[in-house]
Amino acid sequence: MLVDLYSDTQTRPSQGMRAAMAAAEVGDEQRREDPTTTELEERVAALLGHEAAVFLPSGTMCNEIAIRLHIRPGGDEVFVGRDAHPLEAEAGGPAVLSGAVITELEGEDGTFVPETLERAIRARPAGSRYAPRPRLVCAEQTANLRGGTVWPLERLRGMLGIVREHGLRAHLDGARLMNAVVASGIEAAAWASDFDSAWIDFTKGLGAPVGACLAGSAELIEEAWRWKQMLGGAMRQSGVLAAAGLYALDNNVDRLADDHNRARRLVEGLAEIPGIQIEPAKVETNIVIFEVPDAEVFVRALESKGVRMGALDARRVRAVTHLDVDDAGIDQALEAARATVPAGVS
Ligand SMILES: *Cc1c(COP(=O)(O)O)cnc(C)c1O
Repeated sequence: MLVDLYSDTQTRPSQGMRAAMAAAEVGDEQRREDPTTTELEERVAALLGHEAAVFLPSGTMCNEIAIRLHIRPGGDEVFVGRDAHPLEAEAGGPAVLSGAVITELEGEDGTFVPETLERAIRARPAGSRYAPRPRLVCAEQTANLRGGTVWPLERLRGMLGIVREHGLRAHLDGARLMNAVVASGIEAAAWASDFDSAWIDFTKGLGAPVGACLAGSAELIEEAWRWKQMLGGAMRQSGVLAAAGLYALDNNVDRLADDHNRARRLVEGLAEIPGIQIEPAKVETNIVIFEVPDAEVFVRALESKGVRMGALDARRVRAVTHLDVDDAGIDQALEAARATVPAGVS
């Protein structure tokens, strides 16, 4: 059987989740008559410490709608951490849908210190006709392409202080927020409630097939509905999907600790293999990023041994643990990596 560490999006809905989906009470979501969708929205709003939430088909749509709501097209600027999802993986959406300039802030692990944000804002003198206008700051919790880093709470709060001081908006990409919650022991609202918008994804470690929920003020979410409609994200009997989200919140959050433990076992094993470069201390959640001499060669060889990982660039490889990879899967991955590295070295 394939051990699929390519991403935590590779999970398949479990029997229990499918049963919950099949049994869901449904109605017309667009008329707000789908009780299961409404329940999920209320649940996520409370979880994130916001007034309201809206169920959307994907996390990408959460980011794109939120950015569009915060930005005034006409030279507004969005600050993001390194390799942030809206910059790397949303098909240029912020430029197309919001007319936004995106500026990436320095910080190896995908987070950034308040001083870095402050310097970037000060580089745009108020009233200048020349500079883009700073408007929005996005934080990714956890920072996906930089190794699943958990933003330290103090750093996040310091960053939000700068945001407020300069009258900007703040958006939390919480695709893996629940991983941060489990890793840190700090509840979701403590991370999310001070942002103007925040969302969680059900299709990453939470194991659902479709869906994400964007939260914010009642006013912001009402506006988000216009964009959900416009972009074709408004559904009908979406309760069958929302039921998977509810099931995930009930059953698949605490168990993220298992994914983190397995990621730790994976990184400790990988660190012992000559030719693999990795700092085990940097692995905090379910994402393991390491370097080999040739990532493409390594990943292809690994796949021939029944283990899938992803090449991020010429040297970096990413492996992500999730609920469809067990301890035996980690053993198999380590065995395959041990047998593969000589090929990658040559
Ligand atoms: C996966 C991901 C998204 C997008 O979510 P989808 O549901 O796949 O559209 C956004 N941000 C981060 C950090 C992600 O990992």
